[in-house]
Amino acid sequence: MLKINKLTVFADNKEILKDFTLSIKDGETHALMGSNGAGKSTICRALLKDPNYTITEGEIIYNDHNLKDLTTTDISRLGIMMISQNPIAIEGVTNAEMLRLALSEKTGEHIDIFKFSKQAKEICTKLSIPESFLHRDINSGMSGGERKKNELLHIWMLKPSFLILDEVDSGLDVDALKLVANSLKEYQEETKCSILLITHNPKLLEILKPDYIHILADKKIIKTGDASLANEIEKYGFKEFLDENAIERNQENE
Ligand code: ADP
Ligand code: MG
Repeated sequence: MLKINKLTVFADNKEILKDFTLSIKDGETHALMGSNGAGKSTICRALLKDPNYTITEGEIIYNDHNLKDLTTTDISRLGIMMISQNPIAIEGVTNAEMLRLALSEKTGEHIDIFKFSKQAKEICTKLSIPESFLHRDINSGMSGGERKKNELLHIWMLKPSFLILDEVDSGLDVDALKLVANSLKEYQEETKCSILLITHNPKLLEILKPDYIHILADKKIIKTGDASLANEIEKYGFKEFLDENAIERNQENE
């Protein structure tokens, strides 16, 4: 269970989030929507303790751990993993090297190279990525779509319990989007992980079927609803939700 309680977050001395409260139970998928610059990526970064974001008030608790005193590395050890809009490339470290190291850190055991290799190759096949990716530097020289699939490879190998998906659909063509979305769905069904999903993409919403949708505006969550809230957003836009009566007025006028 993730509990974000009355969080205030600053970036570059500017208050981006204030009184941001959100709870996500194990196995639930929550979508967070809001206009550009509302602070969606900021909450993702704050959750991972990105040093560019400062939490000045409130707290984040994940499975009884207060993230306040933890580093990004500690947080990933707890099983929280993010795929961002633009996964960065890391030169000089191959996928296989990183994954073996991360797995042995996670399990505290020596990783059998043959078992590792077999499992990694099976996942490559499942994700329609060439096995040669395993020996390439992380995301290096890969297209946007290939990077997302490469990050999926990391997910399937490292088995996080909490996934943060920050606009994973960006830069994906129709086929790649379906593959990525279906793979994420399969992963969630298999592992019962929790998901914080940032997207406005109807296909991704349809496949991942969030249990709740939240609207972020005015530095905090101003409305929570079920999947039908996405249709209302599509119809009315975000601004209307800041004015409590605007939607009702709209409906009366229809
Ligand atoms: P969203 O993901 O909802 O589009 P962001 O969280 O990226 O919004 O940004 C929210 C606001 O915070 C924007 O005004 C953005 O310019 C600002 N911001 C985000 N990150 C930083 C940063 N590292 N330094 C300065 N300003 C930032
Ligand atoms: Mg963003």
